[in-house]
Amino acid sequence: MKINQYLKQCKAQGKAVLATNFYNLETLQGILQAAKITGLPVILQLTRSSIEYMGLDLACQMARTGLNSYGVTGWLHLDHGDSFALAEQCILNGFDSVMIDGSELPLEENISLTKKVVALASQHHVAVEAELGFVAKLGQDASRKKFTQPEEALYFAKETNVDALAVAVGSAHGFYKEKPELRFDLIRKISKATNLPLVLHGSSGIPHPDIQKAIANGICKINLATEIKDLFMSSLKNALKDSDEIDLRKVFPKATSRVTELITEKLKLVNSQ
Ligand SMILES: [Zn+2]
Repeated sequence: MKINQYLKQCKAQGKAVLATNFYNLETLQGILQAAKITGLPVILQLTRSSIEYMGLDLACQMARTGLNSYGVTGWLHLDHGDSFALAEQCILNGFDSVMIDGSELPLEENISLTKKVVALASQHHVAVEAELGFVAKLGQDASRKKFTQPEEALYFAKETNVDALAVAVGSAHGFYKEKPELRFDLIRKISKATNLPLVLHGSSGIPHPDIQKAIANGICKINLATEIKDLFMSSLKNALKDSDEIDLRKVFPKATSRVTELITEKLKLVNSQ
């Protein structure tokens, strides 16, 4: 099934899909193993930094081959595409979906950039996610957040014809210093106004009942990145602390299996509706 069809199905049934970023072979294996164990679909995401780290072709082939060899239903998605050129590269390299993030641009510029990506993506049957409002990124001041407004979201959806919309409803990227307060009322209003599958960015550290409530109100895609990175690195540091093992093939699997545990838990949570 195409990713836009799956997201529409999620929207119709009040369900969601987990989207997780991967950074190397080990994090990819950890995620795929979790999807295999649970039998649940997963969206594999790459950011510009991860693409630059692994190389676009290799990263793309790793994800595609991985989905096949683990027998997992899943899709490949560009997370936070920050330019038309990057979105274009991913569309032409066989991604199922791309995010074009014009959230820091003035509304009309965000619309025209998004429209340009949608025009190309639709020719290649690739889905497009855009962002409206502003979810603070890592290192940015969280108080800069700008909530998505339902009327503006409706206008944006009509103008751009996107397949999914990332919304600013109280979440932020990275870990939270204070407990995040999600605006469930706003999620419900934007979902009703646009009839689009909505995307929640910055879900690392949001209490599980709040994730479920967000899904019940119209969130169809839950993005998870920070927690995977953090868990993989802390497990690795721990494994190396009192060890002089030089065989990385004996050290990495410990961290990989922690990723599997985390993603198994998150997949079950996101699909518990
Ligand atoms: Zn994000």
